[in-house]
Amino acid sequence: MAEHYKPFKYMPWEMSLEERFQEYHPPYSEREAVLESNRCLYCHDAPCMVACPTTIDIPTFIRKISTGNVKGSAKTILESNLMGASCSRVCPVEVLCEGACVLQHDHKPITIGRLQRYAMDYANERNIDFFKKGEPNGFKVAVIGAGPAGLSCAGELAKRGFDVTVLEKREWGGGLDTYGIVVFREPVEVSLKEVTMIEKLGVEFKFNVEVGKDVTFEDLVKQYDSIFVSVGLGAVPEMSIPGEELQGVYDGLAFIEETKIMPLKDIKYGNRVCVIGAGNTGIDCATIARRLGSERVSIIYRRSEAEMPAYHFEYQFAMNEGVSFMFLTQPVEVVGENGQVKALKCIRMDLGQPDASGRRSPVEVAGSEFEIPCDMVIKAIGQKKLTPITDKLGEFGVKLIKGYIEVDNATNRTHHPKIYAGGDCIRSKGEASTVMAVEDGKIAANGIHVALCGEKAHKVPALTSKM
Ligand SMILES: Cc1cc2nc3c(=O)[nH]c(=O)nc-3n(C[C@H](O)[C@H](O)[C@H](O)COP(=O)(O)OP(=O)(O)OC[C@H]3O[C@@H](n4cnc5c(N)ncnc54)[C@H](O)[C@@H]3O)c2cc1C
Ligand code: SF4
Repeated sequence: MAEHYKPFKYMPWEMSLEERFQEYHPPYSEREAVLESNRCLYCHDAPCMVACPTTIDIPTFIRKISTGNVKGSAKTILESNLMGASCSRVCPVEVLCEGACVLQHDHKPITIGRLQRYAMDYANERNIDFFKKGEPNGFKVAVIGAGPAGLSCAGELAKRGFDVTVLEKREWGGGLDTYGIVVFREPVEVSLKEVTMIEKLGVEFKFNVEVGKDVTFEDLVKQYDSIFVSVGLGAVPEMSIPGEELQGVYDGLAFIEETKIMPLKDIKYGNRVCVIGAGNTGIDCATIARRLGSERVSIIYRRSEAEMPAYHFEYQFAMNEGVSFMFLTQPVEVVGENGQVKALKCIRMDLGQPDASGRRSPVEVAGSEFEIPCDMVIKAIGQKKLTPITDKLGEFGVKLIKGYIEVDNATNRTHHPKIYAGGDCIRSKGEASTVMAVEDGKIAANGIHVALCGEKAHKVPALTSKM
């Protein structure tokens, strides 16, 4: 099958494992940040700001960097987006703010993400607190899940004086920012620092508490004035093909998680790796395998390049790392020997009529089966939609659309008057991202504030700043 693999590109093997997993972009020095910020035109009605789902005042934070007011710049960012440090690293800026920057054609767009990171790192390294808990208003809110949606909602509510408790089933907060986004894009410490920031606003965190198992949903509805559900999605689904149980078949999310919580030298990887799925999980798994030392890594995708869910810049990134892509290829069996993966059996596909998603659906080409020799198969085919908790919500009259929670767009309220939801668990269409989850948390916090405090909500300042 050698013809399916592209030639290897440069991989800096002389670097240590730790160096290969350091943040992909180096931080800006003060001089670089000032030079870059001085290129900004500080546009009126800035398109970069319109393109930001959390509407960060980008021209203002950039101007503050250029005038040496980096602390003020960080404050401007956090006023719109409490997860400004995570977003500066993980946001798909190429299709958001930087993609909308007016300096596109004869110039390079402003590197908004890296400037944002510069300001956020400045504040984090100095442990600067910008906000404090608002005057208590007597209302109690439970937030289920400490991912970016839950943290954003909890923080915004605490600033408004709510008594907030976050229930998180894992040991640490941060959700996928902590456990799921590849370490060379976002180190664990960055999202954990955001959890600490929310904790300092007086939010109570209960870790290792799974709602539905350790606490019942019924009890939460009785005990709290409002509930925000931000549980994300579930594990990688089964492929339902023979051989899936063999040694050497990995869950993509678990594989990424290892790079975040385990010593890199202890992570097992194959020499020839097949990654199934061409979304951002697939790209991340493939690049991790390469950086760990896998010699050949192929992404297997049943549709064509045009339908691939990964962004174009992610595709380019993976190719530059020496990852090869096999389009119109559907796995049909994991072939094993002595209980261990030996090959991935696939069939060629053709594109037929568009399906419900509007994408042309793949159709098998009869008799085109072939095997790709490999010793590791990574499943990266998305996440399960129905988690036990979203299932349970149905009993409270909350409506679901194809396993996602249905909400009113203006407030993120569900069909139950006390229950709000946000983040990946409501995103039934289109892309899902950290910044969208953060905005969902803000919308719900505002919705809860208005619903519980009524007229008074408009009199209480949304932001309580120490500066
Ligand atoms: C591999 C991968 C790479 C990604 N890369 C990017 C990227 O580069 N850029 C980007 O913007 N987005 C990226 N995303 C998407 C982004 O991570 C998500 O959109 C975002 O994390 C959603 O936030 P959330 O708060 O809704 O859910 P999550 O981050 O999933 O958080 C949900 C939290 O709820 C907790 N929870 C679940 N059930 C319960 C329960 N019953 N009781 C208590 N707690 C519970 C979970 O443990 C978790 O901490 C990526 C996603 C994946 C899977
Ligand atoms: S669009 Fe570009 S140049 Fe204009 S304010 Fe935004 S970053 Fe600056």
